[in-house]
Amino acid sequence: MDLKLEDLSPQEIRELERNVFFATLEQIKGWARSNSLWPMTFGLACCAIEMMGTGGANYDLDRSGTIFRTSPRQSDCMIVSGTVTKKMAPILRRLYDQMPEPKWVIAMGSCATAGGPYVKSYSVVKGVDQIVPVDVYIPGCPPNPAALIYGINKLKGKIRYEAKTGKKVI
Ligand code: SF4
Repeated sequence: MDLKLEDLSPQEIRELERNVFFATLEQIKGWARSNSLWPMTFGLACCAIEMMGTGGANYDLDRSGTIFRTSPRQSDCMIVSGTVTKKMAPILRRLYDQMPEPKWVIAMGSCATAGGPYVKSYSVVKGVDQIVPVDVYIPGCPPNPAALIYGINKLKGKIRYEAKTGKKVI
């Protein structure tokens, strides 16, 4: 027997609208990925203290599915928090290359974003985007945990949008 929408009562239609939804496989993958980000810690200077604070009991980042990993093989997101020196740059790139696809990068703080207070130093990279592609920039010196959480949420939105539209947001 074919069930038609006209045969249903208003209450049954409401139940259907609440419980049934359609999505593509890509959308479901994007939703799952965005809600289980596993960032690799890349604490390089003072901003890293704020990043660690975000994972602590007060802000408890784990509750949103964002769980820090110490291995690039287990990570899909790199949070660069601190000053990137020219000596550290090739190591950062190697670790990024070891992360499996798909992967994303957050530049946390003005040092990682553009060199910060050390912008005139001969030894500092003027932004981590010169080494790896960056998805989200978080300004501040240092950004507080709330700012990092905001940036992570922006990244989650970006992942879901890209999965939905198939377009890469730069
Ligand atoms: S942005 Fe400021 S707080 Fe962050 S690593 Fe640079 S100097 Fe330290």
